Formats: sequence, C-alpha cells, structure tokens
Amino acid sequence: MICPECGATDCRSRFDEFLALEFTDMGYGAVHNLTVAAYMLQHSSKLTKEGWMYERDLLREFVVEKKSPSLIRQQVKNSLDSGKRTFKFKSKDGKPVINKTSWTKTIPDVRTENAEVYCADVTAWARSVLEETETIKL
Ligand SMILES: [Zn+2]
Repeated sequence: MICPECGATDCRSRFDEFLALEFTDMGYGAVHNLTVAAYMLQHSSKLTKEGWMYERDLLREFVVEKKSPSLIRQQVKNSLDSGKRTFKFKSKDGKPVINKTSWTKTIPDVRTENAEVYCADVTAWARSVLEETETIKL
C-alpha cells in the first residue's frame, strides 16, 4: 500500500520496526528523536497544526542546534510543568496539516544492516525533512 502522505510503501510497519530496533539496541536508539520527528512531520494527519510546528521546532533543535535529547527532554518537561503548552498535540480527525506528499527522502531510504549506517541514514532523512518543511507556512 502506498502511503498518501509520504508516498512510500509500508511506511507504518517500517516505522514500528525501527522503534523496536531503537528500543532494543542502544546503537540504533541514538537517533530515536530524529526518527520520531521526521516520521511525524511527514505524517501530519496525526498532529494538530500546533503539534506539527512544535515537532518541526524540535527537529531543528536536534539537527541544527545539535541539542542533546536529554537537554530537550528537560526543556519540554519544564514547559509542561509550568503549563506553558496549552495546545493539543495529537489530532484524531485524520486530516493532514500540510499538503506536501512528495519527499526527497522517506523511511525506505534508511538502511538497517548496522547501527552505523542506520544512524547516518536517519540523520540524512531528518535533515532533508527539515529542509523541505522549513519553508512551509501554516
Ligand atoms: Zn507514510
């Protein structure tokens, strides 16, 4: 089945496979935040508009500002604790936030034979998703 949002085949099952790998092997788990952010940005029907923009900001912090996942977790926790995040993150209406359906890189471009190529490919995928979403105005 071709995914209407990212245009890849079986992206959901690949994503589930990746998460399983990341949770069982620390080497793969190193890029967990990038995997989730890149996938969510390419599947905007799962998010609200605010949630999508929030994911994009997170991805930018990981990729461009090179903030560590633990630092970002702390920031997120702080903003949640003080009740700053007032928006809904996940959407259940199934409507995509963005109408982009063609991408330079999608989940099948990520090779999984070892942690080194996996991390390099996920990073390249995440970078290209950021490049292609950065100019989208909502
Ligand atoms: Zn997809």
